[in-house]
Amino acid sequence: MKNIILAANWKLNKSPAETRRFFKTFFDEGKKKSFYAQIGKQFQVVFFPSTISLEATSESVKDSEVRFGGQNIYSESQGAFTGENSAKVIKELNGHYALIGHSERRQYFHESNSFLNKKIHHALKSDLIPMYCIGETLEERESGKTEAVLLAQLTEGLKEITSANGKTLVVAYEPVWAIGTGKIATADQVKETHAFVQKTLAKLDLEQTPILYGGSVKAANAQELIQIPHVSGFLVGGASLEAAAFLDLIQNSLA
Ligand code: PEP
Repeated sequence: MKNIILAANWKLNKSPAETRRFFKTFFDEGKKKSFYAQIGKQFQVVFFPSTISLEATSESVKDSEVRFGGQNIYSESQGAFTGENSAKVIKELNGHYALIGHSERRQYFHESNSFLNKKIHHALKSDLIPMYCIGETLEERESGKTEAVLLAQLTEGLKEITSANGKTLVVAYEPVWAIGTGKIATADQVKETHAFVQKTLAKLDLEQTPILYGGSVKAANAQELIQIPHVSGFLVGGASLEAAAFLDLIQNSLA
């Protein structure tokens, strides 16, 4: 069985009170599911709440095997960087992950591959697992540039990150045109692109890296997508906001 990771990106949603309510339902309902006892053993469940809800998440998941992380970190842990997020604080709250390079960070905050590389190094140094997002825009796909874009995102973003670092890394392939749009990449597109990402990671001496797929994944398409070679799980936006929908998605990903 694949070592599956199911990750929830809540973006700028859920206050601390809403976060606590979500986890109450998630655990009340989740404990009734046969897969519940396998969380953290046969597969991982990871939440990325907004920064203001990290502490509520930390408190809510503390007696479980559920993991969480920050949606973004800065490349330094402290100093005169107004408005930024600290890997050290995420670690202090018992977080395990840092989401790095989500397409919304690249698009709205102009984060480049070389800047993201600094964040990945900093996450590893801070003992957080970077979940590094890559993906092409619709224009790039339609003009035949998908592989060139992904190659640059992987080689520049993962510069001097090798398995020799002895640390863990996760890559999330998310075609930008499939994020929050309801448009899902076809099984053939996912298969072809994940094979390319896997081949590129192998060349970078990172072939053990799990590769997640993201972009309008929901309970209804999870079962088909998880069968595709080199798909090790999902990064999920919209379908992770309701506990029942996310539990269904988890269930179908394991079927
Ligand atoms: C995301 O935000 O990473 C994402 C994949 O969103 P959605 O599932 O809503 O497309």
